[in-house]
Amino acid sequence: MTLWVLGDQLNHAAVRRLAAKRVLLVEAYELGRTPPMHPQKLVLFFSAMRHFAQELREGGLEVTYLQAETLAEALAAFFRAHPGETLAQMQPADHGFAERAQALVEGLGGVYRLVPNPLWLLQPEEFDRWAGSRKTYRLEYFYRFMRQRSGYLMQGGQPLGGAWNYDAENRKTPPPDYRPPPPLRFSPDALTRQAIQTVQEKFTRHFGALEGFDWPVTRQEALQALEDFVQHRLAQFGPYQDALLEQSWSLHHSLLSPVINLGLLHPQEVVERALLEYEKGGIPLASIEGFVRQIIGWREYIYHVYRREMPGLGQANQLDAHRPLPPLFWGAPTRMRCLSTVIERVRQRGYAHHIERLMVLANFALLYGVNPQALNAWFIAAFVDSADWVMAPNVLGMGVFATPVLSSKPYAASGKYIARMGNHCQRCSFRVEETLGQRACPFNSLYWDFMAQHRPLLEANPRLGVLYKSWDKRTPKEQAAIRQRAEVLRRSMARGEL
Ligand code: FAD
Repeated sequence: MTLWVLGDQLNHAAVRRLAAKRVLLVEAYELGRTPPMHPQKLVLFFSAMRHFAQELREGGLEVTYLQAETLAEALAAFFRAHPGETLAQMQPADHGFAERAQALVEGLGGVYRLVPNPLWLLQPEEFDRWAGSRKTYRLEYFYRFMRQRSGYLMQGGQPLGGAWNYDAENRKTPPPDYRPPPPLRFSPDALTRQAIQTVQEKFTRHFGALEGFDWPVTRQEALQALEDFVQHRLAQFGPYQDALLEQSWSLHHSLLSPVINLGLLHPQEVVERALLEYEKGGIPLASIEGFVRQIIGWREYIYHVYRREMPGLGQANQLDAHRPLPPLFWGAPTRMRCLSTVIERVRQRGYAHHIERLMVLANFALLYGVNPQALNAWFIAAFVDSADWVMAPNVLGMGVFATPVLSSKPYAASGKYIARMGNHCQRCSFRVEETLGQRACPFNSLYWDFMAQHRPLLEANPRLGVLYKSWDKRTPKEQAAIRQRAEVLRRSMARGEL
């Protein structure tokens, strides 16, 4: 039996536990081309896989490492050397992969066997028991279940401090000149330099910079990145979690999604290391609670909702949004400072933090009316931590409200929100306090036009009543002018002119 380890299953403990003697790893270049992935994501995967293979070999395992254009070619080569072999695989996270792999393996005369994937905190049966026959999901209830199940931040069956979450304390805006601690970064070693060369040779013209690659690629580096986060950024993680800051791409975020998604760190060890730091003192409850919620709540919840809701989730488009991505997503210049700053960050490192993803990029796409599947493909192509399981619910569900499965209303906001949470608006050439006129912030008229357009679907939501009351106070002439301005803006943006 050979254990076929995927690029997002690079976990030494899991491989040891499965007692595999031989491990197969495959670099199949086709997987990086559709959609065309960010060059740094490709380096991250190839380098992490090559390091993982080297470490397994050093630990005495037999490793077959195949590089091929397609998965089919690689597996054909494997079965030529090992006819009839059984390939075991931890349950792949992405929808449809296991079926495809099984068909390929069986077509080549091999046996394909799935084993549970221990990289999740919950196995599917346990989530399904919690979810029952739910058709929509809300994080808050799942999160409470996870807190009770794990005992994290619990005291006598009650949440520590008396509340399940401290979001109200976690919406602070840093002073405009605030400088967060710079995160630890990692210089490419020889194996990473070789991976960079592979990407330079094989993947040309993908969106994103290759130079400056400095992500952690080994377990050792991932552990150092975790230490750096808990010691230097965790304490302020809570208060500045929702902030937007022009001078900082990382703020107090952990930057751990790439290494958790690769399998180099297990979510349980990440949470428990952070909890240990909290127990030592010096970390506010609001910060540790906020971080624990991201890992045991959001991350796990997103995966299981995806698992249950695919393939429908992937096709969802309840707002019937159909516009192609405007060129600014691919780096065309725009005078909207928040968007140009965040998209340049994504180009440079394949990363933007959560609020930049949700309230700048996805919010803009929602208001503009980008087709959800086109946006999802862009996110997959543009981020180092992307994977279908995490993008589909975040982009289609949370980002552009293509489905009601994850939230009861869209995360739509005008420029006012962006101004309140940070300092992008201060040096923007548009005026965030204006809705009409050449210099008015485009987010404002797009926002009102979006809300007016989708009124039949959204008005029944009690949390949106006040908003429609405020819209109704405007004169019909003013409403028409705002909606017309939004249309003019969309046309300019589609031409790459704004
Ligand atoms: P932190 O802010 O430090 O959070 C800690 C950890 O919590 C993250 O590393 C991640 O593992 C987990 N987490 C928090 N929120 C989520 C969430 N909503 N879904 C899943 N995990 C979560 N996350 C990805 O891993 N890959 C993606 O491709 C991705 N795309 C996103 C697209 C959109 C439109 C949105 C709104 C969110 C997306 N997220 C994605 C979730 C979240 O934004 C990232 O996990 C986070 O920004 C990664 O940075 P960090 O490690 O510094 O996170």
